[in-house]
Amino acid sequence: MRYANSLLDLVGNTPLVRLTKTTDGAKPLVLAKVEYFNPGGSVKDRIAVRMVEAAEASGELKPGGTIVEPTSGNTGVGLAMVAQQKGYKCVFVCPDKVSEDKRNVLKAYGAEVVVCPTAVAPEHPDSYYNVSDRLVQEIEGAWKPNQYANVNNPISHYESTGPEIWQQTEGRITHFVTGVGTGGTISGTGKYLKEVSGGKVQIIGADPEGSVYSGGTGRPYLVEGVGEDFWPETYDKTIADRIIEVSDADSFATTRRLAREEAMLVGGSAGMAAAAAIRLAHELDDPDAVIVVLLPDGGRGYLTKVFNDDWLAQYGFLGHARQGTTLGEVL
Ligand code: PMP
Repeated sequence: MRYANSLLDLVGNTPLVRLTKTTDGAKPLVLAKVEYFNPGGSVKDRIAVRMVEAAEASGELKPGGTIVEPTSGNTGVGLAMVAQQKGYKCVFVCPDKVSEDKRNVLKAYGAEVVVCPTAVAPEHPDSYYNVSDRLVQEIEGAWKPNQYANVNNPISHYESTGPEIWQQTEGRITHFVTGVGTGGTISGTGKYLKEVSGGKVQIIGADPEGSVYSGGTGRPYLVEGVGEDFWPETYDKTIADRIIEVSDADSFATTRRLAREEAMLVGGSAGMAAAAAIRLAHELDDPDAVIVVLLPDGGRGYLTKVFNDDWLAQYGFLGHARQGTTLGEVL
């Protein structure tokens, strides 16, 4: 019989899948690392397992303890899954702008969700940063993973994502492209790929227009999970060789193309990373180049946004996404 003892044993070892139609004849091989194959549905399962196991080992998280984190997204799902399987309680703090669907996903895994007002400054006692800090102090045995400052976030990628990509490409990867949020993925995977290749693999970050990584001020953009308005500790500034800036319009157009042309229903940050990878593929014009692009999560969580015509139209992106079937229009 072949079976896993727990879903946790199935985190990582995601497949590489070639992008064909969306590359519009570009010469390099473009391979997508499809992270929605993780059991919690995103790349964040990797960091959740690693952060929790490190906290167990250091004694910060003890049996019967409670995980408290200000998150509503993929990290929450990963932590909820790990917590439940290992017998910890979980409390997530999120702003009220987070959709009920997202909160319900966390609750479905057995987590508790505390909702805070969005319309208050970060220093306000009711802000979700402050509420989560207060909960950590008040709940006995509470531990806060803090994905923006936890070294085990990048380490999880150094130990899993990086080696997987190197082995899957038999050392032939020439370029790695990934979106940057906490910076864990690019810092850990990039560090490993640089070391193992003797500096040969080029590491390219993809970033929403307006985010600090591509020189922006942190002005708002619509793509979720990537870009920042501050520099997190988990981002290693020495790793990226280049940052490619991608507009919301291009991110969403490419997200739609991935679903329609590659049968990959992914989130907007995956579309953003793929847009950068496809742009790079055309620039390189080299049949020996092997570009690996990481697609962080699936598209089910975004059906009312990027896959909703009315939502896209509200921002003036619909024509772009609909017409986005040729490279000129998409890029
Ligand atoms: N895409 C999505 C949907 C995410 O949730 C995240 C994590 N914030 C990222 C991309 C970026 O990954 P990282 O935090 O490792 O930079």
